Amino acid sequence: MIILALQIGSTEFAASPITADVSKDEIHRVPIPARGVWETCRDLLLGIADGRNEEVVAVGIASPGPIDMTAGVIAPADIREWRTGFAIVDAVRKIFPAAKVTVALDGVCLGLAERNFGPIDGMMDVLVLDASQHITAAVMVGGFTVVGRTGNAGHIGHVLIPGFDESCGCGGRGCLEAVAGGVALLRWAGGQGWRGRSLNELVESADGGDAVAVAALNRAGTALGRAIASTAPLLDFDLVIIGGVLAKAGPALWKSLRTEVATYARLSFLTGLRTIASELGDVGVLAGAGVMAAVSLQPLE
Ligand SMILES: [Zn+2]
Repeated sequence: MIILALQIGSTEFAASPITADVSKDEIHRVPIPARGVWETCRDLLLGIADGRNEEVVAVGIASPGPIDMTAGVIAPADIREWRTGFAIVDAVRKIFPAAKVTVALDGVCLGLAERNFGPIDGMMDVLVLDASQHITAAVMVGGFTVVGRTGNAGHIGHVLIPGFDESCGCGGRGCLEAVAGGVALLRWAGGQGWRGRSLNELVESADGGDAVAVAALNRAGTALGRAIASTAPLLDFDLVIIGGVLAKAGPALWKSLRTEVATYARLSFLTGLRTIASELGDVGVLAGAGVMAAVSLQPLE
C-alpha cells in the first residue's frame, strides 16, 4: 500500500512517499520544464512508485490556485502549459488506477500539516499562510478548514491592502501578493538596485543587513500585517502562522508585521492575537498533501 504526496510549485515539483516516518531524503524534487510538464510530473510519480503502480492507493496534490477541486483541474499561472487548466486528477488516476486522488490549494495543505505536526493541535480557529512566490492560506474556523465552493477559499494573496496600489498578476490592483509575493518582492528590490535572483537570497540579504532587502521585507511585513488585521476581526482567530520562504525572514519582516497587527487589530478580542513563524520549513505543504491523501482513505463516519 503506497500513499504519495505531490507539491506543484512555481518552478519545481516535489513528491514523496508518505509513511509514518518519512524523511527529507525521500523527497524528490525536479524543475518544471517549459514543455512536457505533465510528462515530467508523471515520470517523477512513476519513479517513486517504482513499478508498483497498482499498489498506489492515494495521491494528495497541493497546487497553487486557481483550482477546481471538484473537477480535479488546476490552472497555475506560473506553468504556461497548464495556465488555462489541466485535469491533473484524471491524469494521475490513469497512471495509478487504484488510487484515490485529491487536490487542494497549497496554503490549505500547509494548514493540514500545521494541524497534524505543528502547534495548533486543539485550536479551532487559526489562519495559516503560505508566503512564498504566491500567498495562499488555510482558513480554519471551528476546527474545519474552509475550502469554499470551488476549493479556492484561502486566496489571501488577493485581499486588498490599504496604502498600496501595485498592479497584481490577477488583473487587479493593491493586492497583498502585489506587495509581499515573491515575484513582486524581487521586482521591487531589483528596481531599487538589489542584484540577487531568488526569494531565499532576498531573505539572506536582509539578514546580512542589505538596506534594499531590509526595505523590501519591511514592505512585505507591513502588507502581511494589514492583511492579518483585516481578516482577524471577520473570523476571530486564536493564532496566525506564517509558513513558506518568508517565515524564515528576520526582524526586517516580523517587526513591521507585528507593528501593523498591533496598530490595526484593536478590538478587545484581538489584542492577544499571536502571529508566529511555521517550523515546518520547506516540507510543510508536501506534508499536508500527504495528510490529505491519508485522510481520503478513511471511511466517512
Ligand atoms: Zn491580485
